[in-house]
Amino acid sequence: MTDTTISNALARIQPSQTNAMTDRAFELRAAGADIISLSVGEPDFPTPPHVIEAATAAMLAGETRYTAVAGTAKLREAAALHFQRDLGITVAPAQVLVSTGGKQSVFLCLTATLNPGDEVVVPAPWWVSYSEIVHFSDAEVVKVATTPASRFRMSAEQLEAAITPKTRWLLLNSPGNPTGATYSAQDLLGFAEVLRRHPRVLVMSDDIYAPLRYGQGPHATLAALAPDLAERILTISGVSKSHAMTGFRIGVSAGPQWLISAMTRLQSHITGNACTISQAAAVAAFTGPQDFLLDWRERFRARRDAVVAAINAIPGLSTPVPDGAFYCMVDATPHMARFGDDNALAMHLLEHGVAVVAASAFGGQDGFRISFAADDAVLQTAIARIAKALESQ
Ligand code: PLP
Repeated sequence: MTDTTISNALARIQPSQTNAMTDRAFELRAAGADIISLSVGEPDFPTPPHVIEAATAAMLAGETRYTAVAGTAKLREAAALHFQRDLGITVAPAQVLVSTGGKQSVFLCLTATLNPGDEVVVPAPWWVSYSEIVHFSDAEVVKVATTPASRFRMSAEQLEAAITPKTRWLLLNSPGNPTGATYSAQDLLGFAEVLRRHPRVLVMSDDIYAPLRYGQGPHATLAALAPDLAERILTISGVSKSHAMTGFRIGVSAGPQWLISAMTRLQSHITGNACTISQAAAVAAFTGPQDFLLDWRERFRARRDAVVAAINAIPGLSTPVPDGAFYCMVDATPHMARFGDDNALAMHLLEHGVAVVAASAFGGQDGFRISFAADDAVLQTAIARIAKALESQ
């Protein structure tokens, strides 16, 4: 008999529930069911033509070999330009690591530094992979619950209360998945004050949704606002969400040399370099025209407004207006007595033709996340189905 024991590290984690729901929607569709998937977090816009051209040109020019593990010199330079221009963070190209998606950047920084028993402070609801990656490293998630009333933002007081001598990381994600929570400069300066009192705490700032902010003013990020903390802040960005390049699998991170070196060491044994062709495409994304991003943002804003209004008009559902990204975290508390839990509610909605992800997958509760990165007519149909599904029974 084959011994099918898996590692203790793997046994501690669950498959990504957003991917699981998306896969389930694909399967049902393949079997002929009419399913609208609002479970996946990717823009529905086509990848910009100049990016596709750069990828094609790279292939034709023979850029089909390994590159340096940390990425090509061109992409590290282009990413350093992006961090400066778009996030206000000054870094040398040597302080940039190119990985296979932002997801790998998150995995590397946590896995390269966490030890059993370390604690990681994460405002909830959080992006699904954060908690699982922390558990993979045998570390503990310290959950800081946030509410719609604060637009899902943690306060400096909550942060202070969550930190203990075992705290190793604080994970920030602004604009955030799954809530759209977006921290202001003032919020972040408050966190910086707290962090100065706790020198062992590292900060991961996942800014992958930075171009998708609906408020006024420039994007606020900790590394730009508190340069004195730069030796312990890793900022993660990428092209997946901003440039509709999810399939290219490129993520970039910028941080102190010691951390970038540790992450590169780990990456050298996992994927080695990120896809060479995708790296050439990402150079075009960072250095080419950026004006279309404003148009995309306005289209997302219009969808957001329509979706929020339509959800809030359904009895028993409510959602605050998200300040960034393309998700709504919908509260369905009044329906919980009927369904038992939010997983049962998500399955019920799937039976009515809409794939969403239960809030509990994100460390939340009694609700679900929808992505509004879909065509207007599709969104309208999906919301009509949700309304109907909650009427029935
Ligand atoms: N960070 C957040 C908050 C995300 O929502 C995602 C994707 O859903 C990622 C990182 C990873 O993006 P990718 O690996 O596609 O670049």
